[in-house]
Amino acid sequence: MLICKQKIFSVSLAALMLVTSCNNTKQSDKFPNKEEKPINIILMIGDGMGVSQISTMFYFNPEDSEFKRFEHIGFIKTSSASNKVTDSAAAGTALATGHKTYNRGIGVTPDSVSLTSIMKLLQNKGYQTGLISLSSITDATPASFYANVTDRNMQEEIARQLVESNIDFFAGGGLKFFNQRFDGLNLTSLLKQKGYLLDSLVLPASIKSEEKFAGLMANDGLLPKHEGRGQFLKEATELALNRLSGSQNGFFLMIEGSYIDWAGHAKNSEFLIAEMLDFEETLKVAIDYVDNNKNTLLIVTGDHETGGVSIEKTNNSDSVVVTFKTDQHTADLIPVFAKGFGEEQFRGFYENTDVFNKISILTGINKNIGR
Ligand SMILES: [Zn+2]
Repeated sequence: MLICKQKIFSVSLAALMLVTSCNNTKQSDKFPNKEEKPINIILMIGDGMGVSQISTMFYFNPEDSEFKRFEHIGFIKTSSASNKVTDSAAAGTALATGHKTYNRGIGVTPDSVSLTSIMKLLQNKGYQTGLISLSSITDATPASFYANVTDRNMQEEIARQLVESNIDFFAGGGLKFFNQRFDGLNLTSLLKQKGYLLDSLVLPASIKSEEKFAGLMANDGLLPKHEGRGQFLKEATELALNRLSGSQNGFFLMIEGSYIDWAGHAKNSEFLIAEMLDFEETLKVAIDYVDNNKNTLLIVTGDHETGGVSIEKTNNSDSVVVTFKTDQHTADLIPVFAKGFGEEQFRGFYENTDVFNKISILTGINKNIGR
């Protein structure tokens, strides 16, 4: 296992203090053997969520941070094949496929060969699958799990590939890429033909276990939290877990908190804290699920940091304030939190591609078929 490389990267003392010791602890007894039951995977990605974004929840969340419930923490290096500072496309591709690619590439190698994502590989094993995003479901992070395109801007082609991907549950924005297309196709009709329950206004209260769900809740992305988005991320997660947990063959669910990144680009602390609080509410749902379903592994990470965020003292008192050094992404190492089956494997320092490798090993996929 590639989990004991503490000295390969230079990181701040504060970051080091967050890392639990790296060892090869045997699989904990409290979780079942993977041979007994398929291991469900819940992967939560905070887009643009680094250590400082998480730290805001230790100062600006009136409740105890949900992140305190993790005991197994590691760090990933997020650089892409083309740039030390990645974008969400290359970072999403690394997490989803185990391969580094160039910035803007989705599900392809640097020489544009299509890759198979962890979600597809698990689908081939009989898993049911789900994707949730606050931005368009065709945006870089969710797209990395089902699409193969040479540029993240190819959103209409990404939407076409989503319709072909046979995902059991998806919810996010991006309706216009399905029904207002330059090629005139109406992909929402095609989704209905394929048996999807389609909704673009409100999430249904429940979905039958044999039903597929397509939630396209906005033309582009959904609203930012502080502009009135409501509880979409939490409610979609509850709905997806309810629907997917009926699967006898396991499930894979990816949930993206997309706008933590937007808050960094906007250098807006109110925006950032609102998105982090929203992410925490959803995180509570996921952690509670893992606590009650021991054959499940929850992994929480970010694709990169955005904003060069830090928490600084103010001039006149002991209070602290969120500041931004840039409106761009940075090359900060990003924490990985794991809870549930195989949680120990996510300790230490490793590349973002190893998240794919670790999930592959824990779920019994031969990682060599990822390419
Ligand atoms: Zn960004």
